[in-house]
Amino acid sequence: MLKGKRAIVTGSTSGIGLAIADALAAAGADVVINGFGAADAIEQERLSLENKYGIKAYYLNADLSQAQSTRDFVQQAAELLGGLDILVNNAGIQHTANVEDFPTERWDAIIALNLSAVFHGAAAALPIMHKQGAGRIINIASVHGLVASVQKSAYVAAKHGVVGLTKVIALENAQKGVTCNAICPGWVRTSLVEKQIEALSVKLGVSIEEAARELLSEKQPSLQFVLPAQLGAAAVFLASDAASQTTGTTLTMDGGWTAR
Ligand code: NAD
Repeated sequence: MLKGKRAIVTGSTSGIGLAIADALAAAGADVVINGFGAADAIEQERLSLENKYGIKAYYLNADLSQAQSTRDFVQQAAELLGGLDILVNNAGIQHTANVEDFPTERWDAIIALNLSAVFHGAAAALPIMHKQGAGRIINIASVHGLVASVQKSAYVAAKHGVVGLTKVIALENAQKGVTCNAICPGWVRTSLVEKQIEALSVKLGVSIEEAARELLSEKQPSLQFVLPAQLGAAAVFLASDAASQTTGTTLTMDGGWTAR
């Protein structure tokens, strides 16, 4: 479905980003992956994408919490790929504390990566997409772009910002062949959430699996985690021709979380 398309997925050395890179590659796209981790494990992932799907996969190590390095990263990635059709802004981090205890440095780091990197990435990608007359920007927001939870001020503020930014990019580019949409997942069992499960298990004095069930039962009516591969399939849809008139939307995948 995406044969010959050229895609960037930020924060794709683990979790949701890796699953999205895998799904885009499986659909035929060449991909640039990015994120932190052990060099040999990342190289394994890169090679595995090429071997499984017969596409070109590249890795670029860039810290996307810095404005200029985010813009340079998108530029370099587009040069490697020979153009840019799909930008998935996925990299993100979390920290939990009440507002009065939230460290300034954590606030700044979350806003820089979860929100500002989406802006800088899009700003660098759009001129390239305009020249081509086509492009897809897919922002991995969260249910926390739509509703709030306690102790997540920076994350909720950043993700609400991403949903707003998604709408602005969609409107500014509605006649330029570029769509911009946000995917809003509920709980997905990645390292970002595993830390929260571990903290809950300590707080409640229960096993990890009991804590995971408790986490789900508080917010996610299906009582099941969203699977990274399901988010990959959603990204493939948003990048496909079928979604050419889908823009400025939020695609919620949350087991019913925001329906209550
Ligand atoms: P994860 O921790 O598994 O992956 C995060 C990725 O971002 C990793 O590849 C990491 O190396 C990379 N990264 C971290 N800091 C970076 C930086 N400064 N520059 C470049 N890359 C950096 O987490 P995940 O759960 O897969 O999260 C991916 C996205 O999905 C995030 O934006 C997160 O907010 C969002 N999300 C996650 C959930 C969930 O339940 N896991 C729910 C909703 C939204």
